Amino acid sequence: MPRSGLSTAIGDYLKAIWTVGQGGRASTSALAERLSVSASSVSGMLARLQAQGWVTYERYRGAALTERGTAEALRLLRRHRLIETFLIEYLGYAWDEVHEEAEALEHAISDRFTERLADRLGHPTHDPHGDPIPTHAGGLPRTPDVALDDLEEGAVLTVARLRTQDPTLLAHLDELRIRPGQVVTVTRCAPPAGVVYVRVEDEDVVVSREVAAVVRGAVGERGASGEGGVLGKGGA
Ligand SMILES: [Zn+2]
Repeated sequence: MPRSGLSTAIGDYLKAIWTVGQGGRASTSALAERLSVSASSVSGMLARLQAQGWVTYERYRGAALTERGTAEALRLLRRHRLIETFLIEYLGYAWDEVHEEAEALEHAISDRFTERLADRLGHPTHDPHGDPIPTHAGGLPRTPDVALDDLEEGAVLTVARLRTQDPTLLAHLDELRIRPGQVVTVTRCAPPAGVVYVRVEDEDVVVSREVAAVVRGAVGERGASGEGGVLGKGGA
């Protein structure tokens, strides 16, 4: 099958399997939810994709990408994330506005256009959400992936990635100034359960655990409120 002839629907499935499966298997139900279609249409499509060599599919275990399917998913992700970066850096889009545009454009541009774009952007390794941009050769740049909701009081996180495509959620995080590159400190974990208190640029904000779970990054040094300094006081 010529690459340019690959249908939009097939490409969207391959990307969804990549994203949902995290490099492994993606269940039919998770794919149905992600693509907003019924489980039976997912099953039908997965059987087709298997016949064409893009995935291996077992009825009750879901689908995994073949080597060929993985390469195609990464090729589309590379396009998608380069386009998002371009829209923000050159066309003045807000970072929560770009996903839908990129979804449409990624199927329309050629490999040549993609590589010209990469050149012009200076070969970025990550897009504005902090998602890694697959390389031309199909490699994936490493990205720190510790979740904010897994951290203890006093922990410091340098945000690397917002692991969501939800425009409302991205806009919310942007308003709180929780963005890639930002350093946030967990000031309190509980109570009440279900929220995380964090400090962002000297301002205290509260986020739900659900929101905190998409904020990923690298753990920095512990904050000044750690237990270490108190030890000597009551000693002996
Ligand atoms: Zn996107």
